Amino acid sequence: MPMKKTKKICEACGNRYTPGQEKLEEHRPNCEIRLEAEDDIKAMNEGRPTKGSLETMKQRGGRWAAYQNKALDSHNAGHMQFLKVGEDCTYKEPPARYPIDNSHGMGWRYLFVGMVDLKTGLVTS
Ligand SMILES: [Zn+2]
Repeated sequence: MPMKKTKKICEACGNRYTPGQEKLEEHRPNCEIRLEAEDDIKAMNEGRPTKGSLETMKQRGGRWAAYQNKALDSHNAGHMQFLKVGEDCTYKEPPARYPIDNSHGMGWRYLFVGMVDLKTGLVTS
């Protein structure tokens, strides 16, 4: 018996999609899930935090350093990480590389690119 792929129905646009290997084209062009995903890709390409990341940083407050995966051979190239820095943090000043997180096997590929301006959502160096 061949494996049956379980499709789900998008609550936002009613299209069917495959969870876990979702393609944007599976959603209608005006689907909010697709628009949000496209916005996130745009943010990544422009080297700024996604709406969701920015919201989290605003809620937690303080100063945030931005790190971007610069390894071009990585499927995560361009992906960003953010690290809170300041007097009450592990890092008072941003380190050149994102601290290694062994549990996720990541960190060293992410280089410091600048500080996040929480008002504009842009990264300034
Ligand atoms: Zn959709």
